[in-house]
Order: sequence, then structure tokens, then C-alpha cells
Amino acid sequence: MPEGKCRLCGVLGKLTYEHVPPKVTFNKETRFKIIGFMEYIKEKHPLDKIFKAKIEQGGIGYYSLCQSCNNFLGTTYVPAYQRYSNSFIDCAKKKDFNAFELTIHDFTALKVLKQIISMFFSLNDEIFSENNRDLAEFVLDPSSQDLSNRYRVFNYINTEGQLRNIPLMASGSLTTGNLYWEQS
Ligand SMILES: [Zn+2]
Repeated sequence: MPEGKCRLCGVLGKLTYEHVPPKVTFNKETRFKIIGFMEYIKEKHPLDKIFKAKIEQGGIGYYSLCQSCNNFLGTTYVPAYQRYSNSFIDCAKKKDFNAFELTIHDFTALKVLKQIISMFFSLNDEIFSENNRDLAEFVLDPSSQDLSNRYRVFNYINTEGQLRNIPLMASGSLTTGNLYWEQS
């Protein structure tokens, strides 16, 4: 098990493999390839390209969290996120549609939101964790509703295309030093 700083609590120690998304949300047997970001963006049509890389198995994830935080998410937020995620199964099965109706049972928005944010911590590096301690505290305290308005989370449904787990990105100008946008 690799050692490092837990992305959520910041404690140095052994890091456990955190599935992103959680293993119970269709990420148990996922087969995937790990491609370098530069290799990816150099391609003219990266979404159509079949990249050469070893096929990994067992679900996508990162050695990112200590055992304690991993267990905390698993018991506190993952069940709510699983219910939320399952609500989209019927939509994903449909091939052609202009509109759809969605029913979510027992939707606990705060827990779902905190699980989603925790995934951003897992797929980003230690610097992201150090720079967003208020966001980590928001996730670590189940009762906290203290989310800074500098953060926004968007959700979209996609029935095709490739999975992309891309960490924090920024676009800026090297001549003016201006930052145009950031995304994670
Ligand atoms: Zn931790």
C-alpha cells in the first residue's frame, strides 16, 4: 500500500484504494486504460482514438484516502449516492429520446453532494487538497452546510462516449497572466 497524505483529512500514512465512482455504482469490474493527459490532448480526435495501454481491471480508483476516510465515506455518503446513481439506470438504457422523466427515491442531496465532492479530492493531487481545506471540512463534517459559493457542481447524463477522469485544469494566457477558466 503506498504512503502519502490523505486527500481528505490530510494525515500522512498508508493510502487505501478509493473507487471513483464508488465500487457499488457500477465500478466493480470496470476495465480501463490509463493515458497521459498530454498524449490525450495531442490527438486530433481523442474521443475516436483507440489508445495503446495496458488494460487495468477491478474498477477505476486512486490510492488517495486513509482507511478511516475511506470507511467514513463508505458508511456515511455512499449508500445515498448509490440510490441517486441507480435512478439513472433506466435513462441510460434508452437509445433515442427527446425527453425523459426521472424519479429519485429517498434523495438526500447533502450526502450525494458530499460524496461527489469527495471524488474530486480523490482524483486530484495533494495540492488541490491543501488549497481547498474548507471544502474538505465540508465533506468531513456530515452536518455541515457550509459550502462556499466559489464552488459549483454540475451533473449531466451521457449515454455514449469515453470515460474521462481529468483532474483540475485551468486555461490562461502566458502573456497577460490572466486566468480564463478552471475546471475539475
Ligand atoms: Zn483521511
